[in-house]
Amino acid sequence: MSRPAPDRASGSSPPGASPSPADAAEEALVAGRGCGPSTAAVHAGEARQKLADAVTDPIVASSTFTFRDTRAILDLLEEKTSREEYGRYGNPGERVVERKLAALDGGEMAVLFGSGMAALVGVLMAWLNAGDEVIFFDECYHRSREFCRRHLTRFGVGFREVKTGDYAALEAAIGPRTRMLVSESPTNPHLSIADCATLADIGRRRGVMTLIDATLCTPYNCRPLDAGVDFVIHSATKYLGGHNDLLAGVAVGSRERLEPVRTLRGIMGGISSPHVCYLLERGLKTLALRMERHNANGLEVARFLESHPRVERVWYPGLASHPYHALAARTMRGFGGLVTFLVKDADWQRTARVVDAARILRIGPSLGGVESLIEQPLVMSYWNYPPEERRSFGIHDNMIRLALGIEDAADLVADLGRALDAAG
Ligand SMILES: *Cc1c(COP(=O)(O)O)cnc(C)c1O
Repeated sequence: MSRPAPDRASGSSPPGASPSPADAAEEALVAGRGCGPSTAAVHAGEARQKLADAVTDPIVASSTFTFRDTRAILDLLEEKTSREEYGRYGNPGERVVERKLAALDGGEMAVLFGSGMAALVGVLMAWLNAGDEVIFFDECYHRSREFCRRHLTRFGVGFREVKTGDYAALEAAIGPRTRMLVSESPTNPHLSIADCATLADIGRRRGVMTLIDATLCTPYNCRPLDAGVDFVIHSATKYLGGHNDLLAGVAVGSRERLEPVRTLRGIMGGISSPHVCYLLERGLKTLALRMERHNANGLEVARFLESHPRVERVWYPGLASHPYHALAARTMRGFGGLVTFLVKDADWQRTARVVDAARILRIGPSLGGVESLIEQPLVMSYWNYPPEERRSFGIHDNMIRLALGIEDAADLVADLGRALDAAG
């Protein structure tokens, strides 16, 4: 949809409209091309000249959009114009955020959802039909696998799980019905890294679509689309929003892959509100800056824990001891803010005392915000699972997972040192 460039002396683009770059340099900036990730995070996807000549985008709090006359409706239906119509199909703030997210991930198109789960469900529902089958690596987010196991199967879609990182087993599991392969990178809480190029290669050779839930790496640390994966999804609730103050999700990929997802979203209605879109756009501006600190804090805290006498084992892809360290070092800009460890010689109660003794780190689920969080996976996510089952997921009673925020590493290290000592 081409529209005339606005008059730069007096005009401004309607919110959410195509950004109308003035020249090739602005066009590259809007697409996030030829610039670093910080520049892209700040400028990509946005109109250069906005409503009222403001530097920031407005919150367009409108559930419907009016037409001057019948001709204007017909122009939209005949695709002569591109504009908003009704809030369930999109809103101006959402368009900006989608363009920014697509640029950051190197995709042609992004579709924003009301949560990360809604994004995953949206992609699977848009592309899988009765009789198809989807294969997941077994360390994927348990709610994602639960959706397939309990719900997609009700619609005749088969579901299989394969051991994370076993690409031979993954390829062997592919049958004539297999339509999609799903992995996560890094996984939670073991922080296993997906080999995106290998996954994409298997998918291409076998004619099967591939999807990576890249919530934990973010486009700052890794861009699976560059490796040839078909779909990337993120829980934007985490690092993308970054401030523990919103829920959102996004699916990114080619226009061909994402158009059906957008169409289904318009029917399902899992869209984000204009207010959430504003918060997400604002959060994204500092994505690169925040990720640098999350990465630095992750590495420093992981090194501290690995050398601590009261710690039995640490999982952090930035440590040489992590099973996926070499792959992570080769394919990622940084290793993220999540660190998982085992408290030495501790049962679940003593481990809980470490969690309870932390003062800067707050106890809570989720990750990716500026505030550091601490949790015991056994208690927070697996309390109601039979012990054999949670052990089969690799969840130990003495396991603690940290989602490090952007505080000073020295303070986080001191807090954790104190907490480990206090637990006795
Ligand atoms: C949180 C999370 C989700 C779900 O996202 P919501 O925004 O909570 O719906 C999916 N995948 C991963 C890896 C997550 O961390």
